[in-house]
Amino acid sequence: EYVNLNELLNYILNRFDMIIEKDDHPEKQYSIKREFTDKDIWVELDTDKFTQVVDNLMNNAIKYSPDGSEIIVRLLQTHNYAILSVTDQGLGIPRKDVPKIFDRFFRVDKARSRKQGGTGLGLAISKEVVQLLGGRIWVDSVEGKGSTFYISLPFEKYDAGDDWDAE
Ligand code: ATP
Ligand code: MG
Repeated sequence: EYVNLNELLNYILNRFDMIIEKDDHPEKQYSIKREFTDKDIWVELDTDKFTQVVDNLMNNAIKYSPDGSEIIVRLLQTHNYAILSVTDQGLGIPRKDVPKIFDRFFRVDKARSRKQGGTGLGLAISKEVVQLLGGRIWVDSVEGKGSTFYISLPFEKYDAGDDWDAE
């Protein structure tokens, strides 16, 4: 279906905000900061699949970051792609593990991962889904500082009177 990505992303993040607000420990509350382009981005896409990928990235950002830290979600458009990114101030990923992060069942450092729980499938599934949607997924991470996960999605130019070439 044809969807407004800005709206869809707000909808997904509102659910995370609601869960965070219900937490009994205010000092542990994460904050989600949204930095979206003012322009509406329209994409042809399966909303369930897209939601699954964003959920995975948000769950990881929360799971692998200290309590109360900030997660920044950005949405912007380039000429042919919508780019979404999720930045956390968490554990980061060791450089040698970055190429393996999207492999099935791979988890950084068994000891730390066991404590966190999980199967190591989230990112492998996310990669498959993003590729099905015609996009790419990648990560930029510094161990001990944090990670930014990016997703690109191709979009059709939609003539709503906007000047597409202005940016
Ligand atoms: P699940 O199947 O429940 O998602 P998981 O979170 O362990 O389990 P993935 O989401 O595929 O699996 O992530 C794989 C591994 O990559 C994680 O175990 C973790 O070590 C590392 N990782 C993923 N996201 C982050 C992040 N934002 N910061 C630091 N490490 C991360
Ligand atoms: Mg995960």
